[in-house]
Parts: sequence; structure tokens; C-alpha cells
Amino acid sequence: MNIVIASGKGGTGKTTLATNLASYLALTHKVVLSDLDVEEPNSALFINGEQKQQTDKFKMIPKWNGECTACGICQEVCAYNAILQLGTHIILHAQLCHSCYACSELCPIDALPMEPVQMGVMSEIKTPVMDLIESKLNVGEEQAVPLIKETTEFIQAQYPDPVIKIYDAPPGTSCPVIEAVKTADYVILITEPTPFGLHDMSLMVGVVRDMKKPFGVVINRYGVGNDDVLDYCKKENIDVIARIPNEREIAETYSRGELLFEKFPKVKSALQNIEQHLFSLEIGVRA
Ligand code: SF4
Ligand code: SF4
Repeated sequence: MNIVIASGKGGTGKTTLATNLASYLALTHKVVLSDLDVEEPNSALFINGEQKQQTDKFKMIPKWNGECTACGICQEVCAYNAILQLGTHIILHAQLCHSCYACSELCPIDALPMEPVQMGVMSEIKTPVMDLIESKLNVGEEQAVPLIKETTEFIQAQYPDPVIKIYDAPPGTSCPVIEAVKTADYVILITEPTPFGLHDMSLMVGVVRDMKKPFGVVINRYGVGNDDVLDYCKKENIDVIARIPNEREIAETYSRGELLFEKFPKVKSALQNIEQHLFSLEIGVRA
């Protein structure tokens, strides 16, 4: 089963929840945790594991072979403005390319063959109780989607059911998070009870509803702000499946890179609520 933890904004506690939920479930189930925040993965900071393997990851981009009849097709079909045709000269902006193959397939003289270009690395980290798969884009690489796709495909192939797969999604509501959510059997939206938290969560609610994914909400730092998130969820008929309290000691423990549920019964209780909720769903998260 695939559980994606997402939020409309960064800094709401996605990694806190992903690492703690994965570690907690790993006490009784087979679990793999994946950090899909490929621009800045940090789950490994909270998981004491040993890196077993690191693999280069590649994406395909066209490489101009120097020939051109100036037909203009490649520039016309590229929806991302990655190709500029100047007479019979072609300029390719590789960082804008989405590897769609259109220019390569449609060039009448096959002047744009696709070639692999290294975009990042994927690390396989083992702990005594679970595996962590963490991918990281090269500095300056702009396209997160291909690396997220490669990572989720690797996990689907290497960790078939009944392994519970927990994905720490990238922040925001754009293409990277949509690629991460595609895999989900269930999405946990984590938010905080503030106007910013509510605004960005409501955007994410629109995304998961459009994608027809079942989802519930976890409120982090519960106790700060106001009840607007609760009121919104009630009005929209959204399950609030757990609340993680706002306590200074919890924040301090997190800042030291330590897991929370072993030390704070309230956090463990929140994880138990999430576990019970997941187990009660028709998708039946059982190992
Ligand atoms: S499609 Fe091929 S021939 Fe046409 S402009 Fe592009 S590179 Fe030149
Ligand atoms: S592969 Fe697609 S996105 Fe990349 S340059 Fe060609 S048409 Fe544009």
C-alpha cells in the first residue's frame, strides 16, 4: 500500500510525520520510507541507517547532431520552449526539457536523437527495521518530476505488497507533488492551524480531489493559531485523523534530529490514530 504524505506548503511537518509514522509502523509491519522531496531530501537525518548503494539516475534529452533544414517543427512542438531554431541552427535549453520526445520523433531528418543525461542520485539506506530510499537532484537541475518518477517506479518494483510504502512528498501543489501523489492509495495532508496552513492545505485538497485520491488531514502544532482548519474540514466533510500538539520540547527534540514517538506519548497516540484510520479503510493497509 502506498501512503503519500503531502502538504500545500513547506515547513508544516511532512518529514516529521513521514519519519515517525514509518518508524512506528516498522515496529510491527514491513515498511519502506521514500523521500521524494528530491530538491532537498532530509529524511535520512532522522533515520539511523547505513547507505548500501547509490545509483546515478538519468533523464533523456535531445542532442542536436548539427543538421537542420529549418522546417521549424521542433521549436513549434516543444510546449516548454526548450528549443530555439535560428535559421539552420538549433539551440537547446536542456534544463527546460521535459523529455517528451516530441521534437526527436517529429524531426523529419532525425537530427535530434534522445540521449541520457545524469540528473541525480538515488540512495538505498538500510536500518534494522526498514529501508529508506532517498533521491537527490543535482545542483542546478530544474526538473524534479523525472527523478520522482524513477524513484517511485523503483519502489513499486522492489517492494511489492504487503510492504507498506510511505512517501514524503515535495512541498507545493505543482508537478513534483502531483507526480508523487499519482502513486498514492491514500494521501495524508499535514497542515498547521494557521491562516497560511489553511490556505495551502485547501489548495492541496483541490489537487487530491481532482486526482480522485482518498485523503485525510493531520494537524501539526495543534494549539497554535485558531480553529479555522477544523471548521474547514468539518464543512468539507474531511476526516481529521490526528493532531500533533504544539510543545516546545517536541520542537527541540525534532531540531536535534530525533524521532518523537518514542519520547512523547501524545505523538505516539497520534500515530496510533493514523494507523487505526489506515487499517479501517477499504484499501486495508495490512502486512
Ligand atoms: S525539426 Fe529537425 S530539421 Fe526541423 S528545424 Fe528542428 S532540427 Fe531542424
Ligand atoms: S523532448 Fe519535448 S520537452 Fe524536450 S526539447 Fe524536445 S519537445 Fe521540448
